[in-house]
Amino acid sequence: MSHTTFADMRSFFEKGSTHAFSFRKEQLRLFRQVVLEHEQAIYDALYADLKKSPEEVWATETGLLLQEINYALKHLRKWMQPQKVRTNLLNLPSRSRIYPSAKGVVLIIGTWNFPLQLLLIPVVGAIAAGNCVVLKPSEHAPATASLIEEMMKKTFPAEFLQVVQGDGAAVIPDMLNSYRFDHIFYTGSTAVGKAIYQMAAKTLTPVTLELGGKDPCVVEADANLKVAARRIGIGKFSNAGQMCVSPDYVLVHETVKELFLQELKSCIRKFYGDDASVNDNYGKIINSRQFDRLTAYLSQGKIVYGGQHDRERLYIAPTIMEDITPGAGLLQEEIFGPILPVFAFKNREEALRMIERNSHPLSFYLFTRNPQTQKEWMTSLPFGNGCINNTAWQFTNHNLPFGGIGTSGMGGYHGKHSFEVFTYKKAVMKTPTWFDPAIKYPPFQGKLKLFKRIIR
Ligand code: NAD
Repeated sequence: MSHTTFADMRSFFEKGSTHAFSFRKEQLRLFRQVVLEHEQAIYDALYADLKKSPEEVWATETGLLLQEINYALKHLRKWMQPQKVRTNLLNLPSRSRIYPSAKGVVLIIGTWNFPLQLLLIPVVGAIAAGNCVVLKPSEHAPATASLIEEMMKKTFPAEFLQVVQGDGAAVIPDMLNSYRFDHIFYTGSTAVGKAIYQMAAKTLTPVTLELGGKDPCVVEADANLKVAARRIGIGKFSNAGQMCVSPDYVLVHETVKELFLQELKSCIRKFYGDDASVNDNYGKIINSRQFDRLTAYLSQGKIVYGGQHDRERLYIAPTIMEDITPGAGLLQEEIFGPILPVFAFKNREEALRMIERNSHPLSFYLFTRNPQTQKEWMTSLPFGNGCINNTAWQFTNHNLPFGGIGTSGMGGYHGKHSFEVFTYKKAVMKTPTWFDPAIKYPPFQGKLKLFKRIIR
């Protein structure tokens, strides 16, 4: 960390330095420029951390980030406008407005699986909203973390934006115990999310928590199986399954299970060839700790496709499993890797019972052609976000708020929703002085009837 302290950032904020439209716009422009200038460096860093191809990096990291910056630049002026609202009868002829106001100095904590965009997309909202920002990249994607620090340092003054590196378990409690941030935006596991929430509660700091969970994917008997297999395959095996919006497991209607499995296997072969370890479009597991956790799952059921792995290269093949041992970790823990358990179900009640064992998923996916079935599924369980006849792409539509519910998190961001995360609504009523009726002041005796007419 530079010698500029968080207190210096607060003075910078309190001086009103980040308030003006022109300042925010300029920072967003500089942000876009530094991302564009580092296009190749970003490819290199993400290849080193996760073996992502340039195409995948553009589609799921850089491109998404630029899309958010461009969208914010286009709409910033409108977002910053105070919103006029009606005034109730009691307060007429006052006028009322809501001013979207910056929170102050905010902390954004990122994770390793999309180490660029999951950390920097929230920054777009924080800057647009007029905050100073402290960033904590994940230590598990070190190449991207140090590139982000380099990019941010050369672009923004330290009183406005700083990057803190290190082991989150040590650095974050230290920061939160010694300084009160005005908002904490955390992406990562549910377990750490709970710890962050507890630390934030001590200072009543508001939080956004973008967490994980087991994301179910249901394939009904009437689904277009070819399309379902392709969309589930890409959602599950992109980034070697290390994606919070990946289908964690598939529940497929028993009458179409075999057909679905055939389609899925054929898709995997088309996407990644017979040996995905030599395919440039297939990623690697982030580190040996995650590799060991994932390979332990391989003995918890029957492997019907894939299963090959190589610790040296942190490679686990796209894998499909069935007949999972009752009580196994695979049934309870978020998989977060390229292993897809497939279960058959007879009817919706049975499928719902299986899903409810791990309630409040971050994402839910449904494949069916029937609009009535779609409607029924959409209202039959709580989940943060999802798709009908697709997987994972909902994340890329910045008009949809992205977030979880219950154990998968709180708060949603992207596009204008990010701006809202990092502002609070300052509510102001302005009352003229020329009209000041005596009824509003004591003595109140005899005014009850009138009060009852006006206030109700
Ligand atoms: P991680 O280990 O990189 O942790 C995330 C951040 O928390 C890091 O910056 C880390 O330094 C910090 N951290 C770790 N331990 C800490 C502690 N004890 N106290 C304070 N901070 C700490 O990533 P992870 O948690 O392994 O990430 C995987 C999880 O994240 C999965 O559950 C996944 O579903 C979830 N995830 C959610 C989203 C989302 O947008 N909802 C996106 C990606 C990942």
